[in-house]
Amino acid sequence: MALIYQNRNLDNIANLADNTKAKALQWHDYLVKNDIELLIYETIRTEAQQRENIKKGVSQTMKSYHLVGQALDFVPVNSKGETLWSGYNSSDVKKAVAEAKRLGFEWGGDWNSFIDKPHLQYVYKGYGTDTFGKSVNIGSSKDYVEKGDSGTEVKVLQNRLIELGYKLPKYGADGDFGSETLAAVKQFQKDQGITVDGIVGSVTQKHLDNASKPKSEGIPVKGRIKIVNVSNAAYICDRPSSTNSKNLTTIGKGKEINISGSVPGWWEVIYDNRRAYVNEKYGKRIK
Ligand SMILES: [Zn+2]
Repeated sequence: MALIYQNRNLDNIANLADNTKAKALQWHDYLVKNDIELLIYETIRTEAQQRENIKKGVSQTMKSYHLVGQALDFVPVNSKGETLWSGYNSSDVKKAVAEAKRLGFEWGGDWNSFIDKPHLQYVYKGYGTDTFGKSVNIGSSKDYVEKGDSGTEVKVLQNRLIELGYKLPKYGADGDFGSETLAAVKQFQKDQGITVDGIVGSVTQKHLDNASKPKSEGIPVKGRIKIVNVSNAAYICDRPSSTNSKNLTTIGKGKEINISGSVPGWWEVIYDNRRAYVNEKYGKRIK
């Protein structure tokens, strides 16, 4: 299930510096998987905004990690989306903070002098060291998918296998990499003449990307979206990720396209007889 503020969160995360953004996206994935509702209300900040914050006493330094795109502020929300400014001690927030720290973030709630519970910063190689506009190769904490994994990446893999004619009769594309998926991956690797280890790393992924699909297999249409909220056109990407995907083409504002479903933050559209992805905020469901 998508979070209440998923679109706003992802929009704000998109403004962060590259490596911080990649980490923040991993963190957001964790929130989605664990149904932890919160709002990421601020990420990057201008110097003028920071001066204003210092005046108001909510910030203390002009060397804020927000200025360099290496920090975000969040607040827990309830099921109605109302902010819970005193909710930082809940078990959900504790879990979320623990995961953020595991990913390498510092939490303002741990500070001694100026406790700042909404604040997470990613130090990377120091203040102001993160880049903008460079691609960062971390869609997840590891760069391969194997048995035992679960989540969006697994679902995308399963859909691709099904699309290529590898049946998953018992569980379908359920997002869990179990024995059935393992068998399909091994069969695929065998058919492609590559190492049969059941692990989807860069070689297997490349073969999955390039394999041609059987012509008779159509992807079932589950609905239709119209492109909205863009000035011109939206990207159709090969994967549901803003940092780790290829743009296949663009689709103009007002145009319509069939969908086969959705994954957190993205519409799964049918483009060129395969599954592709359009950011959720650019598509309005019309059917
Ligand atoms: Zn902050």
